[in-house]
Amino acid sequence: MIMSRKSTIITVEPPSYTTSAEKLEITGVECPYCLGRGVWHEQVGYNQYADYTCGVCKGHKKIKAVITIDWVPDE
Ligand SMILES: [Zn+2]
Repeated sequence: MIMSRKSTIITVEPPSYTTSAEKLEITGVECPYCLGRGVWHEQVGYNQYADYTCGVCKGHKKIKAVITIDWVPDE
């Protein structure tokens, strides 16, 4: 099954100001592990449920990409 998805294209260009590194963040990406739920409940006994917090998004439902680009001499 092909599902629609959101993608981000990054254009990498050398900065016009003096810097050795730049950092980009792509935020608001739905967590693919918990499908944006953050937590889920599992029945462990009669009327007993255990709550699990998603280990990927830590319950925040969304994740972000932190991208660091290092500009160094091309030796
Ligand atoms: Zn998650």
